[in-house]
This record gives sequence, structure tokens and C-alpha cells, in this order.
Amino acid sequence: MNIVFFTGAGISKESGIPTFRGKDGIFNEGDNDAELELTLSRFRKNPEKSWKFLRKIFEAGKGKKYNRAHEIIAAFEDSVVITQNIDSFHEDAGSKTVYYLHGEFGTGTCPSCKRKSEIKERCECGGWVKPDIVFYDESLDMDVYTAAVEAAEKADIFVIIGTTGLVYPAANIPKGASVAGARIIEINPEESEYTEIITDIFIREKAIRGMEKLLEDIFCLEYMDGKLKNYKKWKKNLNINSLVQEF
Ligand SMILES: [Zn+2]
Repeated sequence: MNIVFFTGAGISKESGIPTFRGKDGIFNEGDNDAELELTLSRFRKNPEKSWKFLRKIFEAGKGKKYNRAHEIIAAFEDSVVITQNIDSFHEDAGSKTVYYLHGEFGTGTCPSCKRKSEIKERCECGGWVKPDIVFYDESLDMDVYTAAVEAAEKADIFVIIGTTGLVYPAANIPKGASVAGARIIEINPEESEYTEIITDIFIREKAIRGMEKLLEDIFCLEYMDGKLKNYKKWKKNLNINSLVQEF
């Protein structure tokens, strides 16, 4: 029984991480160049200008931490997490296998001397550090993407949380899981690109409340002190197809 969680901005939003755009977003109307400056080509030409925008992402994440939805996911101790988020909340909460489709903001690499470091603006060599995130004009890391696709295709249960399926190629992964036979559970406050097409069980909630509902009402599992009670036994006895018929 393989369980895969697929997460997007909606789960980190409940930790106080704003989305890039929109009302209360990291980039407001004066930041028209954000997407343009967060490209590798512009970063190479003028890293200082790119960092004007990177600094906003950095500041938005300061002092924030994972929430109960991340904690519950981590309690599914052998599950795989595929995330489009660039924060490290899943790992911080204890998830062991996390694929970062769009990279991770906590570390960076200096393009001049190739030194890796915690995220910071300037390298010891004087160069500007590039965060280990996928810029808008970059393709995804193929090793990460392939591993995520393989995990999705092996999934028996695939849980979509807080992502609407508009960003490609990431959005193809849940569809691949469905085609390969996984049952799809979706937690989103509104219907998404997935709901009509592949979702078997739709939970109309934000991430935290949705994860609690999934746990209590659908899986009938008890979460205590970071663990799921009788998880191994539950997994052994679970019949996901009859569960889907029930809901
Ligand atoms: Zn350097």
C-alpha cells in the first residue's frame, strides 16, 4: 500500500507563506518584473536586480514553520511527498522522502565557484548566490521529476492538497498516478482542474481542516503525539476501492 501526497501553495499558505501573486501576495502590483527577473538569463546578467525579488521571497519565509497538515502527512511515515513548494516544511515536520519539483529555497549555489551553502546573497568568492530553486526559464531537475513520476505511478492512494493543477509539467503527475491505477483524494477549498477528471474523493476544505477530515472521517485513524495509532494494521486491512465507493 503506497501513499503519495502531492502538495502546493495551499498547504504553506496556512503557515503564513503568501502566494507570489494576488491580494496579499509576495509580489504586489509594483513588482511587474518579478517573473522576468526570476529567470536564469536575467540572473546571469544582473543578479543584484534578481535578488531584489529573491529577498522578498526570503523575507516572506522568515520565522514561519510547518503546520498541522504537514505534521499529519509526516505521520504517514513510509509515504512519499511530492511538493511544488520551495519551503522545507515537509522535511522539517519529519517527512523522510520529499521530492521538490521546483527546488528548495533553503540552500543556494554560487554560479562562479560552484560552492553550495545555506541561502544567502553573497558567496565568499564575492559572487551572487543562486537559490536552489527552479527559475521561470529553467526546466525541472529531470532526476527529481522522474523519481516523482515513478513514485506517483506506484501509488495506491494519491492525495492532492492545496494545488489547482495549473502549473505544468508538475500538474501531469496526479494524472499519471490516476492512469496507473491510484485512487485520487483531493483536498482543496474549491474545485480544481483535477476534480472532474481524476478525483475519486473530494474534500472541500483548506489543507489543515481537510487533512483532519481525511484522517478522522475517511481513514478512521487516530493521530497522537506525531504518530498514527495502529497505522501498520490499518494499512494491512485497508481496502481503498470499497472506501472510495463509500464516499
Ligand atoms: Zn562563489
